[in-house]
Amino acid sequence: MSCIFCKIAAGEIPADIVFKNERVTAFTDLNPMAPTHILIIPNQHIDSVDAIVNDETARAAAECLRAAREIAQARALTGGYRLVTNTGPDAGQSVPHLHFHLLAGRLMTWPPG
Ligand code: 5GP
Ligand code: ZN
Repeated sequence: MSCIFCKIAAGEIPADIVFKNERVTAFTDLNPMAPTHILIIPNQHIDSVDAIVNDETARAAAECLRAAREIAQARALTGGYRLVTNTGPDAGQSVPHLHFHLLAGRLMTWPPG
């Protein structure tokens, strides 16, 4: 297993874990782009949104969204938050394990750069 996010989900390499359950792990991004920048990943390896192809992978992705809401509520992100998932090279995906960036704590521009 060479995937860095699989290793974080398995507890094999350290991360600042902020949420964990049977299906999902969330941890602080190493290179934060906002005061709150958390990565939410399925514990199961899924390459990207392009690999959400059946009920099992769809369920894993949906559990990430539910975790996002729970994290936002626990942290009282009352100003709102942005969820981003990059898929493929044009979007800048650098880690090939599905992850949702939860960004909050500053005003977000739209459209993104
Ligand atoms: P992507 O560019 O694939 O959408 O996002 C990957 C994110 O993972 C980046 O924001 C990067 O800072 C973060 N990242 C990469 N490696 C690690 C790591 O080992 N630990 C943590 N906490 N974040 C990482
Ligand atoms: Zn993985």
